[in-house]
Amino acid sequence: MVNVGDFLKTNGIKPSYQRIKIYEFLMNNKEHPTVETIYNALNGQIPTLSKTTVYNTLKIFIDKGIAMAITIDEIEVRFDAHMDMHGHFKCEQCNTIYDFNVNFEGALSDELNDFEITEQQMFFYGICKKCKNHS
Ligand SMILES: [Zn+2]
Ligand SMILES: [Zn+2]
Repeated sequence: MVNVGDFLKTNGIKPSYQRIKIYEFLMNNKEHPTVETIYNALNGQIPTLSKTTVYNTLKIFIDKGIAMAITIDEIEVRFDAHMDMHGHFKCEQCNTIYDFNVNFEGALSDELNDFEITEQQMFFYGICKKCKNHS
């Protein structure tokens, strides 16, 4: 991965220390953190950080197309910096959100031919392998 500061700049985002830290956290934590999770993880390193800053920073990342909000969770929005097309599976027991590869092209039918698609998300719910083997 290139320097995060340069990466943000390339995407039209002023690379402040907080933004770099938040983006790094998102890249390194594949479990799709919430605003709360990000705030709690970085609060110790960045005493001036507020939840509003985390929220606003994520909003900028989403606007610039380097992160996405996933609404698989009814209670809270989770965030992802993994921008390749992929589906999400939420385990209803451990609340883990797993990534899986999916061919979105093949999933589209002709009915959407003249539509402009701005976002594609695929959600699956169930019980993950780990939890299934424990019960
Ligand atoms: Zn599970
Ligand atoms: Zn994901």
